Amino acid sequence: MKNLLDLDAAGLFEQGAIWPHPGIPPRELPARERIVDGALVLQDGEALVLQIAGRLTGMAQVRTDALDDGATLRVFALWNLFDDLPRTRGLKDEFLGRLGNLLRTLPVQRKSFDAPPATDLENDPNGIGFLVTLESPLRGELRVARVRFDELVPERPLRHSVGGETRPATPVAAGTTRRFELPPAPAGATVELALGLPDRLARQRAPLRATVTAAGSSEGTATLRFEERDASAPPRRFEDLVFHFPEARREPTVVDVAVEAGVAGGAPTAVLAAVPKLLPRREAATPWNVLLLSIDTLRADRLGEAGEGGEAGKDADLTPNLSRLARESVRFTRCFSPANFTVPGHASLMTGLQPVVHGANRFGDRVSIRRWPSLAGQLASAGVFTAAFSGGGFVDPAFGFDEHFDRYCTLDPLMSPRNPRYDAGPIRHAEAVNRKLREAMSFARVADWLSAHADRRFFLFLHTYFAHDYWPSPAFARARGADAEGPWPPPLDLPTAEFGKVVAGSPQLDWYRALYDATVSETDAALEPLLARLRESGLLESTIVVVVADHGEAFREHGTLFHANGLHNEVLHVPLLMRVPGLAPATIDAPVSLIDLAPTLLELTGAAPLDAVQGVSLVPLLRGGEPPDRVLLSQDCPPIGKSANGTRVEITHSALIGSRFKLIRIVGEDESTDSLYDLVADPGETHDLAKDPLYTGALASARSSLEHLLGAMQQAADRAKALQESAAPNAGLDDDLHRLGY
Ligand SMILES: [Zn+2]
Repeated sequence: MKNLLDLDAAGLFEQGAIWPHPGIPPRELPARERIVDGALVLQDGEALVLQIAGRLTGMAQVRTDALDDGATLRVFALWNLFDDLPRTRGLKDEFLGRLGNLLRTLPVQRKSFDAPPATDLENDPNGIGFLVTLESPLRGELRVARVRFDELVPERPLRHSVGGETRPATPVAAGTTRRFELPPAPAGATVELALGLPDRLARQRAPLRATVTAAGSSEGTATLRFEERDASAPPRRFEDLVFHFPEARREPTVVDVAVEAGVAGGAPTAVLAAVPKLLPRREAATPWNVLLLSIDTLRADRLGEAGEGGEAGKDADLTPNLSRLARESVRFTRCFSPANFTVPGHASLMTGLQPVVHGANRFGDRVSIRRWPSLAGQLASAGVFTAAFSGGGFVDPAFGFDEHFDRYCTLDPLMSPRNPRYDAGPIRHAEAVNRKLREAMSFARVADWLSAHADRRFFLFLHTYFAHDYWPSPAFARARGADAEGPWPPPLDLPTAEFGKVVAGSPQLDWYRALYDATVSETDAALEPLLARLRESGLLESTIVVVVADHGEAFREHGTLFHANGLHNEVLHVPLLMRVPGLAPATIDAPVSLIDLAPTLLELTGAAPLDAVQGVSLVPLLRGGEPPDRVLLSQDCPPIGKSANGTRVEITHSALIGSRFKLIRIVGEDESTDSLYDLVADPGETHDLAKDPLYTGALASARSSLEHLLGAMQQAADRAKALQESAAPNAGLDDDLHRLGY
């Protein structure tokens, strides 16, 4: 049992918010009149609202000490926290995208606090916390003296989050010892584990000491002390521990984690122990490691020869470090994202499935890929240490991206530097914080991790939002002829309603473009020390390095701005570099998709292939084979609900990309428009050939392919949905996908 919340009337008033009933004008009451005889008084439909951050590790129970009957207790899942909870008035519009499913509705009963708990709560699959509301009767009063929210923590390992990182971990309560048994350690093996205090242990009352013993290791024993946390302390982190086994051992490897409370009588509490992993030394003959770098929002045409045709002084190579890597790599000149925004792009990268099939393809919905087999899962099963340093957000554990990773960090690896005080990326209008953050900006933490694991087998997933966030330092902005502080709001602060003002040829759009180029350039500069570390440590000889993006970025080439809108190539065309040890540099012009990455990397590393996959392995192409006769499918986040005259219209976009022609179909409420482009003659998609009589045949053929593919995809999506809802998520999908010829 763990106490997540235990508040008396004063605490409820301080930490909660009182929302008026939407139908009744709020009456301002001074605080002292809210608390009468030790109870918080709510009247006439007012609701007390409490927010509890974090996912549960087990079940939970809510108890109230109310002095009246006739009120209602509701518990909702939270999909985003309300940072402005007290100012939110409880109106439906203010909840959009933040409030998840209603999990429980219960009548509030007097003195229910002492009664046996009746409310067992579980996580919403995509929730990141809970919202508890206590609603007074519409005409009446509710006096509430205390609310408690208890968590029942299970013994088994689950994914826990500490300081922006999730790992499979198990709580070890003070006064107990937890034993982990691993296979016998071969000579040169290490055992890695980590300890941390749970994020939501808000009021740790006693210091704890944890003693970790790994019998037979060089280190033997290690001790960590966890102190009372004060407000100025750095955020909590998992503290890593490594034990070395120089000699081979016959008996199983035993790791004991013993936790003792440092102060007698302190409240019982626990330390989280990340499940120890045995990592054999990487032998020369073992397959390659993988470093997969996703530079969010990087357009294909910004790599290398980006500035061609640009103004004088700005046409230098934007990305000299990536260009150098590209010269040593197999470079796919025509890689396309199957989607136009971050969640589906990355979900397809990891699962090898089209967005409509894995289902994590809609804004607002929090569909998770947790139950799908993935690149990380297959590599983890092969004994590879799987680590991720991602920017979180749309690549967050809320979407299941952390599944199968031994550690999954959601602090942007570029923007959350060594300084552990930085818990997140830049904070708007907090210049002092941001300046410090920028000064320390580097991939140093990642480089250190790589050095520490140079002789282990690893899969490292890196993802940064730096280019997505248009946040160049003044020097890089100046180099692109722009002031880092323009007269307009930065793109991320630009209200959607003002997108219409940013038109082609406007100084505002030019400024955004310059900021974007500057951030791309700065990302590349930040990569230099990381790439240098790879070269110096010899890791390039044993590591497949992949550089890719989830989607591009539009600057009104075809009317749209930024991304998540439209399917033209400024948004779909992404860079793909694969530097594979032993493979000569080459350029491949055949169209490929992000869904091909997982099957390719699994084949290259010798790991088991995915059971259900829609991408194809690019290994034959890498080895000089002929490109398959193939068309690719990309889709908008379907369907986009757009307000037109107060009604919501669903508009779906689909793009079929072949080796020469591209068909874009936009289906609105009662009309459908097709555009056809010859990507060989017109890579910029400037001439729509759909009405050109010379291309009647090409159009008919593309239409027929698209319709076949969309039909097949819908069947696969329906089947996938049914399987995901069933007990065995992927059994049988493989057959279905193969039958569909995809
Ligand atoms: Zn993205």
